[in-house]
Amino acid sequence: MIGSINMDYVYTVKELPRKGETLLVETFIENPGGKGANQAVAAKRLGAEVTMIGAIGKDIVGNKLKENLEKEGINVKNVKKVDFPSGNAMITVDQNGNNTILVYPGANLHIEKEDIDRCEGIIKDNDFIILQLEISIDTVLQAAKLGKKNNKKVILNPAPAKDLPEEIYQYIDYITPNETELTAMTGIEDIELAARELIKKGAKNVVVTLGEEGCYFLGKEELKVPSFKVEAIDTTAAGDSFNAALAIALGEGKEIEEALKFCNAVGAISTTKRGAQTSLPFITEVKNFYK
Ligand code: ADP
Repeated sequence: MIGSINMDYVYTVKELPRKGETLLVETFIENPGGKGANQAVAAKRLGAEVTMIGAIGKDIVGNKLKENLEKEGINVKNVKKVDFPSGNAMITVDQNGNNTILVYPGANLHIEKEDIDRCEGIIKDNDFIILQLEISIDTVLQAAKLGKKNNKKVILNPAPAKDLPEEIYQYIDYITPNETELTAMTGIEDIELAARELIKKGAKNVVVTLGEEGCYFLGKEELKVPSFKVEAIDTTAAGDSFNAALAIALGEGKEIEEALKFCNAVGAISTTKRGAQTSLPFITEVKNFYK
């Protein structure tokens, strides 16, 4: 897992603050997050061995973030400490669930291309390289390139949406945007046409997550895999759990349709619980859900 590690500060308020306003907060919680860390935790809970490559600050928050990953059983030897504050997000949520979010990437932008070169041995030791876009694009590109060079499966979750260098597509085995990201990347509204565009650019397979509709797949075949009906209360990290599940299912040798069904199950379970990492299911929960 090569990606971001953040601390999320979640403030609940009666109403979102207006310009110039100072408000008292009703509740406050500190939650470890960041797409990279979330996907690492998700993959570990689903049964993978996970090594995290990332960066944190030389601050108390950084220590907490590292301890959190360690506690989950993730290899953190290559989470480096840099002279920038740890990444964080300030999330304000009102009574109706509306929110505003500020993300400070901080240390996350200081995992360099050279760090990836240094970690080529780790890339060689793993089956899957999973990437998102909360770190520098140059770093993501280098990771995808070394992943491909070493014959590893490269999954790119292009979130949050950003312009990608054309070179990267040829290194990607699975690109996994949600609908909004897919349109932002291609300028095309139609899911099938937009997915074809990503294939034309060189991605081998495209998986589009469709929220409560499940997902759409385009590769050697085309599939629509419906979701599981659940009572969703918080969709935070649904996409993160889905991406981790994809690596697990493919790593176990599942055929694509069966793999995507597993991803939908994991994604669905994550929506039935609040929070990011708190909502990521363990493999036993997924097995019980299937039963
Ligand atoms: P993101 O969180 O990245 O925006 P999605 O909202 O598309 O991604 O959700 C990712 C996956 O989680 C979906 O493809 C689906 O499998 C599952 N999922 C999300 N929302 C629901 C829901 N309301 N009911 C059932 N499954 C859901």
